[in-house]
Amino acid sequence: MDCIFCAIANGEIPSKKVYEDDEILAFHDIDPQAPVHVLIIPKQHIKWAYDVNETNSAVVAHIFEKIPEIAKSLGVEDGFRIVNNCGDIAGQSVKHLHFHLMAGRPFGWPAG
Ligand code: AMP
Ligand code: ZN
Repeated sequence: MDCIFCAIANGEIPSKKVYEDDEILAFHDIDPQAPVHVLIIPKQHIKWAYDVNETNSAVVAHIFEKIPEIAKSLGVEDGFRIVNNCGDIAGQSVKHLHFHLMAGRPFGWPAG
């Protein structure tokens, strides 16, 4: 399977890592949309949020357990936005589940 985030997870493509363990990886977005813009991915390939189920949801819980630690390590103190784009209509350009952790500027609502 040709998946850029699988290639980042297994080290074939370099990334600026901010956190890694056996299950997940966090790295800086190559095209940041905020002063802090990090992507957090499961190392296992999950295409999109539609494919999260009771068999694989533990890794999603693990991502959210680690978000406070990752945010603090980045110096984020006043809050952040977590974004998941699911499907083309939502702007998902990479079909490997990922969560954007964005911070360092105000964010509008509703998101565009
Ligand atoms: P999405 O549009 O929600 O699928 O988010 C995909 C994100 O991956 C975008 O913000 C891209 O800038 C980012 N991205 C694509 N390729 C790379 C890469 N090689 N390293 C880091 N971030 C990337
Ligand atoms: Zn993948």
